[in-house]
Amino acid sequence: MFDITEAENYNYNYNYHIRFKGGVGMRYIADHDFHIHSTVSRCCHDKNQTPETILNYAKENGLKKICLTNHFWDDKVKSEAEWIDEHNFTYVSSVLPLPKDDDVEFLFGCETDMDFNNMIGISEERFNAFDFIIVATTHLHLDGNTVRTKIITPDEAAFHWIDKIENLLVKDLPFHKMGIAHLTTGHILKNQTAEAISLIPDATMYSVFSECSRKGVGIELNVKTINMTDEQKEIFLRPYIIAKECGCKFYLGSDSHKVSALASAKENFEDVITKLNLKESDKFVIR
Ligand SMILES: [Zn+2]
Ligand SMILES: [Zn+2]
Repeated sequence: MFDITEAENYNYNYNYHIRFKGGVGMRYIADHDFHIHSTVSRCCHDKNQTPETILNYAKENGLKKICLTNHFWDDKVKSEAEWIDEHNFTYVSSVLPLPKDDDVEFLFGCETDMDFNNMIGISEERFNAFDFIIVATTHLHLDGNTVRTKIITPDEAAFHWIDKIENLLVKDLPFHKMGIAHLTTGHILKNQTAEAISLIPDATMYSVFSECSRKGVGIELNVKTINMTDEQKEIFLRPYIIAKECGCKFYLGSDSHKVSALASAKENFEDVITKLNLKESDKFVIR
């Protein structure tokens, strides 16, 4: 386990990290995208966001492995939340079979949620139905579902950010083929995500990410660092820098819901790889 004293004494500094904590070895290659939605997700409103378009995006950008991860709540998991039965297994698997290609491996995955009782939206018997399972712990905008009541303050949002990951990590899950989605998304708290993230102490992040590292769950990178101010970088990259220090492995996930988002994904990936100074040894591999 991570030594908490070390965490408290850790003098977090973005520039220091970039200059001196880069590590050695080959630069992380942006050769995959493991978080992509198609028209099967109800929140995807671009009729052109089909598996075929997504495959073309991969080919044009030299990606070798991609994963379709539409929203999923397993009909076998009964929840007290207000989920409408709209992303069940029959529905999300209607995209199958995915198009095949000699250069690109196209995986079938899902993005599931945790309800306000911390029930996870996939049953054990479905673990093998997917190549990769993303859990979103930060869909905190879905009150009535992921949180009981609407989150108002950055303090509440910070509490749930921590609480959800901690509750996820104690579960018996196939973490070797799982990832945690968009840990710095704007869904954390509208217009106040930066404030919420800033309230989470380094020591707490160290504790959470050492456990992520120990369990072997992938940490998603889809933070858009291009055009961020130095102040924003300090806030939004801190979780990932700490995760890296804890030995976490990272995968790229554009979370694209539309064709225009696919178009800028590769550029965003390269930028975050540079800013975090990631190496191939930092890469999460689905097993
Ligand atoms: Zn999401
Ligand atoms: Zn998503």
